[in-house]
Order: sequence, then structure tokens, then C-alpha cells
Amino acid sequence: MGEKAGRRRPGPLAGLLVAVVVAAGCMGGGLDQGEPEQPGPRQNGPAASPGADSTRADGTTSVAEFKQDFSDAVGIAERYWTDRFRASGKQFQPIRRVVPYTRSGEVSCGGEGLPRNNAVYCSAGDFIAYDVNWSVGAFRQVGDAFLFYLLGHEYAHGVQVRLGIRYNFTIQQELQADCMAGAYIGDNVRSGTLTLAEGDLDEFREGLLAVGDDPNQPWFAEGSHGTAEQRTDSFFRGYENSLDACGLG
Ligand SMILES: [Zn+2]
Repeated sequence: MGEKAGRRRPGPLAGLLVAVVVAAGCMGGGLDQGEPEQPGPRQNGPAASPGADSTRADGTTSVAEFKQDFSDAVGIAERYWTDRFRASGKQFQPIRRVVPYTRSGEVSCGGEGLPRNNAVYCSAGDFIAYDVNWSVGAFRQVGDAFLFYLLGHEYAHGVQVRLGIRYNFTIQQELQADCMAGAYIGDNVRSGTLTLAEGDLDEFREGLLAVGDDPNQPWFAEGSHGTAEQRTDSFFRGYENSLDACGLG
């Protein structure tokens, strides 16, 4: 459903291809922390489904296109959270800025330069920053699911701050952000804003679990962000059941 081919420019992304999420865990609710460095997406993700978005894995996605797509995902997140807050009688203040960067230290959060191969919500400045080259690389290899997951997860940290939720452990915060990212994607699929190709959900599930088996992906370490299985469970709880499943209180 939806326009599969023509993700040229306008509007909400058609064809959300949920394939492998190379989950980008991060170090808590943005207290000047970045995502831990990760080795980048796996070389060979699952084969593209028929009708997969044309920008996936074909190596032709430009940085400019990525930035555009990312900002579309941000726009969808802003509308999503604005509506959710309004439904609870609250006003939502969108995250202030989204900042792409290319060099280590080019962007600082709370006085500390952000490293490359990273994406982060910085609570000190209320912004999301991401290494655009690293992100584009992942986008090319994994698909646009990566973009939505990445943005959905980081945006969720900004929402957590706005809600003033307190956590005993980082892992609670991270798994909740995964759940919220799932709800963000799932609810937008249900509303028709985003579209899945058939079989994408299975690929997503398999992909997430598969990623967890890779010993080179330390952000899945127990006690910090959750195992691949925990993260998959959290993501799909949100994806399938929306925010009620995420324990936002
Ligand atoms: Zn995180």
C-alpha cells in the first residue's frame, strides 16, 4: 500500500521498510551522553522484500535525501507527540533542533564534543544530533527503518524528559524508549502516515534478534540497554499496543 516507488520528496515517507534495525542504544536520557560507538550495520541484511523502497540498500541515497527524510521523520514525530500530549490535556514542546554533523567534536552537548558514529538526544540543549555519514551508511545498508527507529528512539528520550519520568536504571529508560519508538512507528502505520511492505514485520523481528547475536554490538550489553530480545520485545509491545504498553504513567 502507499506509494512504494516515489519517495522523491514530498511529505511523509511512503513505504516504511521495516527490515533490520541496527539498534542504536544510547546512554540514558540525554544527560550529556552519547550513543556508544558502534561498528556500523551488518554488511548483509535480509534480502529486500518485493516492492521494497527504492532507496534501500541501493547505494544511491544521497546525504541530501537522507537529511530530507530525517527531517520528515522528525515532522511526523512532532505531530505524533503533539497529538498524544494534547489527548492528555498537555501541551507538547517539540525538541528544539535536529543537528546533523560530520566531524568529531563538531557538535557539543553540555560542553562535551560528540564523537563520530553516533546519535544522541542532548537534554542540556534539547536537541538531537547525529553523525550524518554514519547514519546514511546505515540507511543505505539497512533501509529506512533504521532512520525511523533511530529518530523515534532519540525523540523518545526528549519526551521522557518532558514527562519528568525518573528511572532507577538506564535499562528501563532505554527499553521504554524502544517501546515508544515502536509506538511512534506502529501508530503512524495504523493511521496510514507510514506504510509497511508485506513481510517487513517478520524481517524486522528476525533482524533485531539476529543483531543481538553479534558479539561486536556492545550496546546490547546486559544491564545497560537490554539484550536484543528485550529490545525487540519492548519495540514490538509499543508497535502493536501503542503507548499504553510503554508504562508512561
Ligand atoms: Zn537511548
